[in-house]
Amino acid sequence: MNQILRGPKRSKAKVSSVAFFLALLTLNAAEISLIPEKIIPAIADRQDFQVPDRTHLTGWVGQRIDVNEANRLVKLDATRLLEGYRKRPGRQSWDGEHVGKWLHAATLAWVNTGDTALREKLDSIAAELVKCQLEDGYLGTYIEKERWRSWDVWAHKYNLIGLLTYVRYTGNTAPLTACRRMGDLLCNTFGEESGKRDILKAGAHVGMAPTSVLEPMVLLYRLTGETRYLDFCKYILRAWEKPDGPKIISTLLSAKRVDKVANGKAYEMLSCLNGALEYYRTTGESEILQACLNAWQDIVDHRLYLTGAASYWEVFHGDYDFPNVNNVGETCVTVTWLQFNAQLLRLTGEARFADQLEHVILNQLLGAQRCDGAAWGYYVQMEGTKPYSSNLDGHCCLSSGPRGLALIPTFALATDADGIVVNLYDAGTAHLHLRDHMSVTLKTDTQYPGNERIRITVEPAKTKSFAVKLRIPAWCPRATIEVNGHVERIRADADGYTSIQRSWKRGDQISLRLRLEARLVAGDHMNQGKVALFYGPLVLAADEALLAKPASTGGKRAADWSDTERLPINAIAVPSPNLAALKFTEEAAPEPIKTWAGAQVFRVRGVTRKPVAALRRDASLPLHLIPFADAGGTGTHYKVWLPLPRELYTGNLLLDAQESRSRHGNLGGSITDEDFQTAVVTFDGKMAAEDWFAVQLDEPVLIKRVLFGHGKTFHDGGWFDASAGKPRIQVKLSKDGAWETIAELTDYPSTTSKDSAEMDGGESFICNLATPVKACAIRVTGKPACGDNPQQAFSSCAELQAFSE
Ligand SMILES: [Zn+2]
Repeated sequence: MNQILRGPKRSKAKVSSVAFFLALLTLNAAEISLIPEKIIPAIADRQDFQVPDRTHLTGWVGQRIDVNEANRLVKLDATRLLEGYRKRPGRQSWDGEHVGKWLHAATLAWVNTGDTALREKLDSIAAELVKCQLEDGYLGTYIEKERWRSWDVWAHKYNLIGLLTYVRYTGNTAPLTACRRMGDLLCNTFGEESGKRDILKAGAHVGMAPTSVLEPMVLLYRLTGETRYLDFCKYILRAWEKPDGPKIISTLLSAKRVDKVANGKAYEMLSCLNGALEYYRTTGESEILQACLNAWQDIVDHRLYLTGAASYWEVFHGDYDFPNVNNVGETCVTVTWLQFNAQLLRLTGEARFADQLEHVILNQLLGAQRCDGAAWGYYVQMEGTKPYSSNLDGHCCLSSGPRGLALIPTFALATDADGIVVNLYDAGTAHLHLRDHMSVTLKTDTQYPGNERIRITVEPAKTKSFAVKLRIPAWCPRATIEVNGHVERIRADADGYTSIQRSWKRGDQISLRLRLEARLVAGDHMNQGKVALFYGPLVLAADEALLAKPASTGGKRAADWSDTERLPINAIAVPSPNLAALKFTEEAAPEPIKTWAGAQVFRVRGVTRKPVAALRRDASLPLHLIPFADAGGTGTHYKVWLPLPRELYTGNLLLDAQESRSRHGNLGGSITDEDFQTAVVTFDGKMAAEDWFAVQLDEPVLIKRVLFGHGKTFHDGGWFDASAGKPRIQVKLSKDGAWETIAELTDYPSTTSKDSAEMDGGESFICNLATPVKACAIRVTGKPACGDNPQQAFSSCAELQAFSE
């Protein structure tokens, strides 16, 4: 059954080559409409989200959306996506989640472009997935006796989300039967009646993983009108508040802190909250919206990194607890945070949520996507290298990232009761319908955020009075708006938008100027003595790719930057915490750093932190910064928080202090230079019961937090064997005192002597001390590992740091 009107199919190559012709064709093309739901939500959306074929972005964001489709979604191996279903069990416990996430993202991408190859792939994968459903409705990757213990309700969640999205947008209702059978199986398996299982026990994180199936169960209820699915949703909300449940809503209403909800696991919690908002839309229970607003405020005020990342070790931590490295910024969290803001924007129509969308998209989301769209990062940290991966193995984030990009056209521009709302500024065209169905086309001409001028041409089908609401970003104190050359007053309404209400006629032009200026943020807590720089909405970073060795030191400066000799990123600092002293200037980005037409780099004054490449310490040199979204795009090291010179630096207490280790080993370096790239090792071909890495201080210092950076993983050792206990933190309270154990690195993985638990070089572990301690020396002690050579054992360390807060 295909009840949907579709526009002519077009291939992506043609869109770019004969854009003008196709733009005309698009104007006349029939639009895609969704299969209507049987249940009308109790809460009407304040902003109408758009079917993605209405909005085509062609600027920086548009380019990233295009490569997400062309180089990622179209190219993913269908056999790999279906593998765990065709041959159970899947290769790992959550392998089943990828195909549903792919179906969701790929459906939205296909609606956006009409790409025929992607549609064929969608039809095939949806049909093949449904074929893998078992007689009783089960569509997970587990064998029967292992069912419902860890990640298979979770996989059903994503299969429901993916297939329901496919059904509603393509009009092919065949997979709806499979969705109902999945829903029925969940209803028959889990519940409070005797003989049914407890859903809290069907997965991890205090039951937040399995109960996040709330979101598609609400959608299934609205699409089918079957009340048993709504009853199941109500059961989930009751389960949340049981004594052994995560108590999501009650905790957010009372404590108003996400780190106090269950175990604080960010991806699963935000997934539950996205379901809760869908439930609120359906039933109108206002305390659920209040709980979600409390969560949002808490995250924005206390738990959001500069770039829009919202966790480390995948968990929400205490207030302002923002280490730069330590499994920071899981991409699944980035995408569910984006979805959370998009939901709140639809429901409330308030610009503050669109501000967060711009922030997370232009920084953390684009920063997690490799510039060519083919690969994604799992943890995208504030410094280091981007851990891009182009397959799906073991990484939940690799199928989450593409969903974030594919959702952008649904909210970039929207309609509401008053007219049109512009949420994101990217070049492109939007064909929208006001609520009275009159069509209005908006053409945006800009190189924002590479340029502050944004020109929007408004083309209503006929002259008519309505509002165009513009989002003046909170970061922008100096904006101007002109309509047809006449200056408009900027005044935010209660919803946060500046509304231009007038009789609009074809060709009316809005000229918006969002003054792009540099801003400097002084670091606090673990970033004391460092600064970070913004340019308009963009977080900037230093990148080794742009750290040319000055010619005066014999550095070879090739015409092509990729051949230029570079300084190590840890050799540089910025000379002052005052922006004016840094002489900030914009420049066009050089190749191969230039990833789009408006790409820029930003020059500031830099200094050397230590003698390097024939330069003395504190030598001046130019420093080029790059948007975080593009930083590390060529595999180089980057850094958001830039240290001040040593006399102004007050962060890491162990910087450049005197260091020692249990065995000299064969690889030199320093563990006190804030350089996670180089490691010291204890390798000497011999056995040892214990190894340690120590730092001695001249004066005792108060230590509240310790960071241990793992050095390197070799085939024959390099890590600590944690099988008989995690590595220990030891201190000397007086210069001649004995070492005392004060804590363990509890986050250190469960390694053995032979198994490194796949630890990467530079991977870091933080210990927050229960009681701060005043120490003269500190060390990390543990049992060295042997890998594949049991005749010897050794360990390694990249960095040891300590902080007073
Ligand atoms: Zn993930």
